[in-house]
Amino acid sequence: MDGSFAEDNSAPSARNVFDPGPTFRRDVETFLDRKLTPALRQAGRETTGLKSAPEAYEAWRAIVHEQGWLAPSWPARYGGTGWTLAQQLYFDNACAERDAPILASSGIRTIGPLIIAAGNAEQKAHYLPAILSGAHEWCQGFSEPQAGSDLTALSLRAEQEGDDFVLNGSKIWTSFAHHATHMFLLARVDPSSRRHDGLVFLLLKMDTPGVSVQPIPFIDGDCETNQVFFDNVRIPVSDRIGDIGDGWTTARKLMAIARSNNTTTGVLRRAYRMALRGAQQAQGLDDHFRTRFADLKMRIDTFEAVAARNISNPQSMAISAPSSVLKILATELHQEISALGLDVNAQSSLAQSKYFATRAASIYSGTNEIHRNILAKAIGCTSD
Ligand SMILES: Cc1cc2nc3c(=O)[nH]c(=O)nc-3n(C[C@H](O)[C@H](O)[C@H](O)COP(=O)(O)OP(=O)(O)OC[C@H]3O[C@@H](n4cnc5c(N)ncnc54)[C@H](O)[C@@H]3O)c2cc1C
Repeated sequence: MDGSFAEDNSAPSARNVFDPGPTFRRDVETFLDRKLTPALRQAGRETTGLKSAPEAYEAWRAIVHEQGWLAPSWPARYGGTGWTLAQQLYFDNACAERDAPILASSGIRTIGPLIIAAGNAEQKAHYLPAILSGAHEWCQGFSEPQAGSDLTALSLRAEQEGDDFVLNGSKIWTSFAHHATHMFLLARVDPSSRRHDGLVFLLLKMDTPGVSVQPIPFIDGDCETNQVFFDNVRIPVSDRIGDIGDGWTTARKLMAIARSNNTTTGVLRRAYRMALRGAQQAQGLDDHFRTRFADLKMRIDTFEAVAARNISNPQSMAISAPSSVLKILATELHQEISALGLDVNAQSSLAQSKYFATRAASIYSGTNEIHRNILAKAIGCTSD
């Protein structure tokens, strides 16, 4: 093994399972080299969560939007790039390798694709351009104090009064609700209904009277999640996706999109580079650490191949098991990389912050235990 541990600047194409072609590679590299200022790169390097600091995030999203590349996975007719999977992967990795700020956006990654797949024409015309321009930032209102892993226990009430629903109750752990303009949420229309039945999937403006947001601080003092309260909040019955009473079907579609989109190979490669930089700062790397770095690098490449194969196959992603495999693999890799970053440079506040930030990865988007249950069921290991 090469023990030098110079920063890995090899062309992303050399590692990708698919090659997007020389013209595309050159266009992406030229764009990134021209537009990524030292300040933006520094913000990218210092990002430990799933989203870069607000100033860098806003500046970079405006640049990428102007270039027309903000929604790599959306079809061109909705303002996306219409890129192939190989092109999307290349762009994600190239951004990671040049330390671009992270643009994790619920609008681009989850609710946008859902509206494209299941929204009506009016919703597409209203929401998609606003997501692309940054006018709308979305958060996800699924979990409740008494409904986490068992989401079907949710009780946020949506009582129909004429052309409106009236919402009462609360949502919890809502990421970035304090910055969001909109929330997609699941609520119960029929209080006598149980589990998956009697739900509705709604699209709510956060400035609707009766909505209040209370931040929940993390262990490291950061505030990303919130509890959101609903006190007689009125929302038009038409602001929903899917039928009244059948919200669960819509929620399942969204969850399959979210799980396969959350921890990308770009996110893993950034974490790896952060750990590697920490190793370069620290003295006396021994064979033990070199072996751990090499092992993780191979596993990121393997994950990329597995993810690409599954995401390129819509039939595969339509069922839960492959997206559960990806969710478990990606989040556990992310945690191992950040643990290595801490082992190798324990004094670094960045390494400490990264370590803590990734602990939550095996909890959000469904805990890894729940995903293992799904897999056990898929391969016939359980009786229920
Ligand atoms: C950082 C962060 C961000 C989040 N962001 C959002 C968000 O934006 N929107 C949103 O709606 N939610 C969000 N969540 C909530 C997240 O989806 C829930 O925390 C998660 O589903 C687990 O629910 P819970 O916390 O109620 O734990 P519980 O469901 O009470 O689970 C507690 C423990 O028991 C285990 N467990 C539970 N049931 C089983 C079972 N049947 N078999 C085996 N083990 C089981 C779990 O794996 C877990 O370890 C976020 C959470 C975190 C930590």
